[in-house]
Amino acid sequence: MTKILVVYSGGLDSFTLVNEAIRSENEILTLSFDYGQKHRKELSFVERFCLKESIEYKIVDVSSIKELFQGSSITDEIDIPKGHYEDDSMKSTVVPNRNMILISLALGYAVTKEVEEVWFGAHAGDHAIYPDCRPEFVEKMDAVAKIANYSPIAVKAPYISMSKSEILAIGLEMKLDYSLTWTCYEGKDLACGECGACHERLESFAANNAIDPLEYL
Ligand SMILES: [Zn+2]
Repeated sequence: MTKILVVYSGGLDSFTLVNEAIRSENEILTLSFDYGQKHRKELSFVERFCLKESIEYKIVDVSSIKELFQGSSITDEIDIPKGHYEDDSMKSTVVPNRNMILISLALGYAVTKEVEEVWFGAHAGDHAIYPDCRPEFVEKMDAVAKIANYSPIAVKAPYISMSKSEILAIGLEMKLDYSLTWTCYEGKDLACGECGACHERLESFAANNAIDPLEYL
């Protein structure tokens, strides 16, 4: 039995990952970050799911670091660009060095909780614009995590070579309820269906001939 900490954002990828971890019959806990997103909807989904599954979860407020993340539409008052991730405009959704910062925090928590592995849901679809979602980033974080503390910790991103459609296929096979996930970047009551995140989510469901259980505007 391995003790695994899953970085759980409340989105489709990390939700699938948490469910894979649960099915692996290891000891699971989750960590989620409130880093000053415009909305906390994803985090309310995290709470709901973890309570339902009786998983130990922690949502930590790191929003004070927002002052350091300037020029990102995820946290600032810039309009979230519409369209596809591949578009140049989507680069404004990058929070500088986000994964390295958040994984470092997760590793600190992992040491405290005597966790052996930290999992996060980076995937191939993110590579084009997010440098910290690439395999070389994960390999190097893993190497650092093995020497940074008295006890070595592994950093794993099991979906690093997969597309969002492939991740969704795994979850649909597990019969996961994706109404328990939130993807949209806008903080509205219903998903907008227009931002890059919504586009990618809807395309993934279409690629799997599946219907997204979320309601859209
Ligand atoms: Zn949206």
